[in-house]
Amino acid sequence: MNFFLREDPLTGERHIIASVRSRRPHIAKDCYEAQEEPIQCPFCPGREALTPEESLRVGDGSGWLVRVIPNKFPAIPHMHDVVIDSPSHTDDLDTIPHLPKLLWTYRERMVHYYNTNGVKYVAVFRNRGKEAGASIPHPHSQVLALPFYPRRFLKEKERYEKENRDVMGELLSRELELQERVLFVSKNFSVLLAYAPVTPYEVWIVPKERVSSFVFERNLEELSEVIRETVSTLKGLLGENMPYNLTLQSAPPWDMDYHYYVRILPRVSVFGGFELETENVIVSVAPEEATRQLRALKYAEKSE
Ligand SMILES: [Zn+2]
Repeated sequence: MNFFLREDPLTGERHIIASVRSRRPHIAKDCYEAQEEPIQCPFCPGREALTPEESLRVGDGSGWLVRVIPNKFPAIPHMHDVVIDSPSHTDDLDTIPHLPKLLWTYRERMVHYYNTNGVKYVAVFRNRGKEAGASIPHPHSQVLALPFYPRRFLKEKERYEKENRDVMGELLSRELELQERVLFVSKNFSVLLAYAPVTPYEVWIVPKERVSSFVFERNLEELSEVIRETVSTLKGLLGENMPYNLTLQSAPPWDMDYHYYVRILPRVSVFGGFELETENVIVSVAPEEATRQLRALKYAEKSE
């Protein structure tokens, strides 16, 4: 049994890694429920009348690819979108052919809300599978505008401001030098296993050059490829039906003192009393071990 404490260099939060060396993921592949049949799915094409009127539609001439509608059960009224990611009921981030257009939609909605009075932060996230909080199996994302700064962002900002340094930039050069938690790199992005993960196999996709807000990201095609490859590698290990969350950790466009990144958090374990009591988490797979497992799979696939 390996046991150690890890402090997240961005937030200062401490988490416990309690792992057995060479432990395989403790879920059986594909033990999660397959997606339900699209009976009466309100997000499938042909049932547009079942959803509220759209605020944005991205099409390809013959039909829609992405639709943005107001959330029927908003956390904050008029500030909460549902983004229907694809007309296909069974698509996911590794199969959506128009992924750059979906990322473009996220950016458009962020710009829209950041131009709305009183909005301080726009949260963009995606839940896949019941274990990750998705109530409808059809692939969708959410955009939620907040009149305050969320706790995680404030904790990260404190490090950038008080210590006056590029916290993420430093983390990135350290990780690239060590190579213990690097899954792969592309021209403009690095893909790392989180140093102090909140879930086993938590992956960060980080732009190599400092970009404070996703609103300024221009490499949407390349980022799509990187997301596709990351999700497909994770699924190779954790199963096709892997439940997970994607979050976009991004500053508002007026705040340059940040370095945005994308998190992918497989939900192969659930939070219990310890996590609720302490707000710290216990993770059962060390990120270095997770990296070894994922790299072995990824490079084995490549050489086939
Ligand atoms: Zn559907």
